[in-house]
Order: sequence, then structure tokens, then C-alpha cells
Amino acid sequence: DALQAERMRDCSVSKRFYKRARRVFPDGTTRVTVEARPQPTYVARGDGAYLIDVDGRRFLDLNNNFTTLIHGHGFVPVVKAVTAALAGGTCFANPTDSEIALAELLTGRIPAAERIRFVNSGTEAVMFAIKAARAFTGRPGVARIEGAYHGAYDWAEAGQGNAPATWGPAHRPSARPAYRGTPKSVGDDVVICRFNDVAGAESAISAAADRLGCILIDPMPSRAGLLHPDPGFLEMLMRVARKFDILIVADEVLNLRQGFEGACARHGLAPDLIALGKIIGGGFPIGAIAGRKEIMTVFSSLHGRPALPQGGTFSANPISMIAGRVAMEAMTRAKFEELDGFGEQLRQGMRAAITRRNAAFCISGEASLFRIHPRPTIPVDFRQAYLSAEGAATMQRLTAFFHERAILLPNAAAACLSTAMTQGDIEKIVDTFDEFLDVL
Ligand code: PLP
Repeated sequence: DALQAERMRDCSVSKRFYKRARRVFPDGTTRVTVEARPQPTYVARGDGAYLIDVDGRRFLDLNNNFTTLIHGHGFVPVVKAVTAALAGGTCFANPTDSEIALAELLTGRIPAAERIRFVNSGTEAVMFAIKAARAFTGRPGVARIEGAYHGAYDWAEAGQGNAPATWGPAHRPSARPAYRGTPKSVGDDVVICRFNDVAGAESAISAAADRLGCILIDPMPSRAGLLHPDPGFLEMLMRVARKFDILIVADEVLNLRQGFEGACARHGLAPDLIALGKIIGGGFPIGAIAGRKEIMTVFSSLHGRPALPQGGTFSANPISMIAGRVAMEAMTRAKFEELDGFGEQLRQGMRAAITRRNAAFCISGEASLFRIHPRPTIPVDFRQAYLSAEGAATMQRLTAFFHERAILLPNAAAACLSTAMTQGDIEKIVDTFDEFLDVL
């Protein structure tokens, strides 16, 4: 409407905020969340599927805090449960019933999660999963997928490779540490494999097998392109892991939202350890390491060897535990089916628009996730998904187009739906995309 349009143009409060922020934060931000330039959209509050910014604009939110908020903002059952708990204290050194309840829920659902430990973030979850694999196998190395994001632990980052100049050969026995100043030895213990390249990855892993503790794999790596796994690729990883006694560490931090039992179950991957985060905290900070009982004994001192230290001042804080349980309990099998049905409808609608207009775009994703690519076919690996300067400019235009029409679309990253969205919201997203293709 006219008022919203006026506010869209003005953004005076956001501009003021950004000016202050630039005096206290490098780049003016704590996290990179600038969908549309010239300044970030500062949030006043969330409301279900929507965000209301400090200039009074109301956006449909397809970011949902980097896919965390599966129920959108201010999910009433979580708000009620957390409000009731707050006055009784927010963190204790002692355990609580709430952590047992969330652990029971997750181990009851996720096939490979026989035992679990809670931490504060996905980064920590991946870090402790790698440490657990090392402690169990006695081997330090990590094989990982080029371009995949697994948080900020040095060994999970190495070989993340942002620009073609740093890529090197497709499969590498050692990685360049991701960032300047990181010890070179970090890269020596990281093997880089190209997603979906069965023969190349198998030979790279086999050649380094005697120093590999784990294969770190997200079955649908989002930053690398929200890539679709070839079943033969995941099967090869399991075969080679079995052959050389290397553990499979699945990163389900983002992709647990792919189903009641998670992404591994959906894609036929049987991991030894799993890193969790995001949706399992109901909107509060969380991470978890889960896995086979035998392997999780590395965290126990009752087995004749010192335990792998794993603590954390805020780990298993009762607010995250309570919010997580309530949010996850609401995600029944039927609720996943309903949400994923919206996702399917959205992807089909966007793909139909692409076909109708014969546009050079494609949509990857499954369940409640999607990613738009400025290329005609779904990329098979990071190198195909990588955006040229022209592709990046197109995606920036797309994001800005959505922003002007009050939809927050993550720029060149995975977007997601929430259970707060309606049929009308799905149609609005598809129509906006169709309109963009029309004016392009
Ligand atoms: N692993 C994956 C696949 C992720 O997407 C993320 C975060 O986006 C992480 C790990 C790190 O999680 P966190 O940001 O909670 O540290």
C-alpha cells in the first residue's frame, strides 16, 4: 500500500542505526545480513512469517535466522514455555529435566543419534564431532567437500575456498587454510573432495586414509549451492569409510529441517556422528553432537581412558532446552509433510515460471528449503554453483527486487519456509519471482 511504499523509500531509522553501527562494528555489522543495499534492514520485531523493521516496513521473512526458525517468529507455544521458565533461572551448572527431555526427543527421532551432548552453536557441534572422531580413531585428518560451510573451527573451514584463485586442483590431499595466519599444518590435515565426483573423491580419500579420522559431509551442502546428492556419491562415502575405518560425521546443523528423522535418513546416509544446531533450539542458541553409543563413549571417563573434555558455560541452558523441545514437539510427521508440501508447491511454481519464460535460472532444494541459481541446470558441485561477477550482480538485483516488494530473500544462499506461512505467502513468492523474470 501507499504507506508501505513511502516507508520503503525512506528507511531513515535504518540509515541512522547503520551510521551508529559503523562506529562500533567492523563493516558496521556483527553478521553479514545485508540483503539489500545501502544499509541493513534493522529489525524492530518479528511476527510469525513476518519481520517488522525499525522504519515500520513489514517483510515476509525467507531467511528465518539462517533457517533456524522453523515456526517463524514469536511461536506462541515457545513464548509461553520460555516465559514460564524465565523467573526460575536461566542457567545452572547443574543438570535439569529439560535437557533430558530434549535429548530423549532427538535420540528418539534421529536414527544414528543413540547418545547426545549439547553445546551452544553449530560451529561447536562440528568442532566436537571432529574431536570425537579423532579421539575414537586416533587419526587427526578430515576429508571435506569443497565450498561447503561447516562453521568456524579451523579444520572445518580449511579449503572452504571462496574464489576461483584459491581453488587449486579438484581433489587435494591437503587444503590451503581458509584464512591468512591460520597455521599451515591445519591444511595438512584436511583433504578436499568435489561433491558428486564419485571416482575423484574416492581416490583422494583412499590415498589419505591412514591419516583421516572422519569424512565431514552435509548431504545437501547449502553454501556450496544447496547441492543435490547423487545417491552413488553418498554410498561411495559410506563404502570407503567402512573400508578404512574412517568415521562419517554428518553436518545436519541446517538440514535437519529436511524431515522428521533429518536429512541423512532422507538421503540414505548412515553417519557415525552428527552435528546438530539451528531448529533444535526453538530460536535460542544451541548445538549438539550425537552419534553411535560406542563412539560417544569418547566423552566418558568410565571406559578406561580419559574423557575427551567437552563442557561449555552455557551448554544445555534450560531456556534453549525448553524452547527446543516445544518447537520440535510441534514438528510432528504430519507438520513436516504439510510444510514440505508448501516447499514443493513453491519450487514447482518457480520452475514453471522459468520454463514459461525460457529463463536461464534453476531452483535447487528439498523439503522447506530452496535456492535460486542464475544458470539453467542445478549445479552438481561448488564450482558450478559459484557465481561469476555477472551472476552475482543478477542475484543482487533479484534480492533487491524481492526487498522492494517486502520479501526478505537471502542473497545467493539457501532460503526457507516456516510453518507460520500461508498459501497466500507461497503464491506471493512465486508471483514475485515470475514478475522478476518478466522485467529481467
Ligand atoms: N554447519 C552448517 C551446515 C551451517 O549451515 C552452519 C551455520 O550456518 C554451521 C554449521 C554453524 O552453525 P552456527 O552458526 O550455529 O555456529
